[in-house]
Amino acid sequence: MSTIFLDNISKQYGNAPPAVNQISFEAQAGTFTVLLGPSGCGKSTTLRMIAGLDTPTSGRIRIGGRDVTDLPPSQRKIAMVFQSYALFPHLSVRDNILFGLKVRKEPVAQHKPRLDKVAALLGLEKLLDRKPSQLSGGQQQRVALGRAVISEAPVCLMDEPLSNLDAQLRHEMRREIRALQQNLGITMVYVTHDQTEAMSMADQVVLMNGGRIEQNDSPDQLYGTPSSEFSARFIGTPPMNVLQLDDRTRSLLARSGPPAGQAPEAAVTLGIRPEHIRLDPAGLIPATVENVEYFGADSIVIATLGANPNVAVRAAGHLRAERGERIMLHWSPTQQHFFDATGKALRQAPTSS
Ligand code: ADP
Repeated sequence: MSTIFLDNISKQYGNAPPAVNQISFEAQAGTFTVLLGPSGCGKSTTLRMIAGLDTPTSGRIRIGGRDVTDLPPSQRKIAMVFQSYALFPHLSVRDNILFGLKVRKEPVAQHKPRLDKVAALLGLEKLLDRKPSQLSGGQQQRVALGRAVISEAPVCLMDEPLSNLDAQLRHEMRREIRALQQNLGITMVYVTHDQTEAMSMADQVVLMNGGRIEQNDSPDQLYGTPSSEFSARFIGTPPMNVLQLDDRTRSLLARSGPPAGQAPEAAVTLGIRPEHIRLDPAGLIPATVENVEYFGADSIVIATLGANPNVAVRAAGHLRAERGERIMLHWSPTQQHFFDATGKALRQAPTSS
């Protein structure tokens, strides 16, 4: 089996603060793990240490129960796909895909059947004689995937592999990579800063922040029960609204009945997702429209609620509202999130009946 385990891994470059700071997580065999987080949070460094391209300052890495911390990349049974596809321009698609097999001197008799299988899997059959310069960005990306898949390594590591593609192609390739991972039972660790990519592909999301793990959870849990304000705001488009629970907001919310009353004592902010707020003439929370953004299937109303500007509310269809218009809002107390002064999520007090 090819479960990956990182045990208290740190990486420090010179005297700079640690790029990766005591992180531990497990990527179970045959699952899709995404390392997610803003630029500079340590995702690529973590991936490079799993690959063996960087050495941890401390901690151990195990793959399939074997301690690989001191092994070179070639002995880790992994395949890698990077942002730059790094295809050889002078080689045909066929030779690019076969390159690794030839270098590793795998039996020649295996080359053709494995190439045929990979080409069929990725729809590259008709392109095998072309050079990379004769391919579109999406086709080049498929060749890079083919080169990884043909190795039949049980572990595949990908670092922002879709960032050079346009939005539509990214969407298609997301599905293809996920299907490939599931069909082949690969253990995947995938780096991205794009939360949509993480949410739509992953079994497990390791959300990083400043070299540490902020939250390690399934996409569902990350969305539904963020452990911090950082997690709450990193997931979702637009992100979760975070309202300051100052006196004015508290008194506005108090009018709506139970919600504000349920705020734990230590709460300084209240989080509510745009899709969980309803525009409702019978709602009890007043707000003022600043702007409406129309996206086709839905609209995002940007409103001011008490002293909180830029509160986003998702409404179905094309909502027509004027700037300065007063609207009434409603949300369910069960959709609220509370955070303390450090940004840590607080458990909501139980609803009194
Ligand atoms: P991410 O992939 O999340 O954008 P990285 O892992 O690339 O972040 O980088 C994490 C931190 O480590 C950054 O502050 C970056 O500048 C630093 N870093 C990465 N590689 C090196 C290196 N080879 N030498 C010095 N600092 C580095």
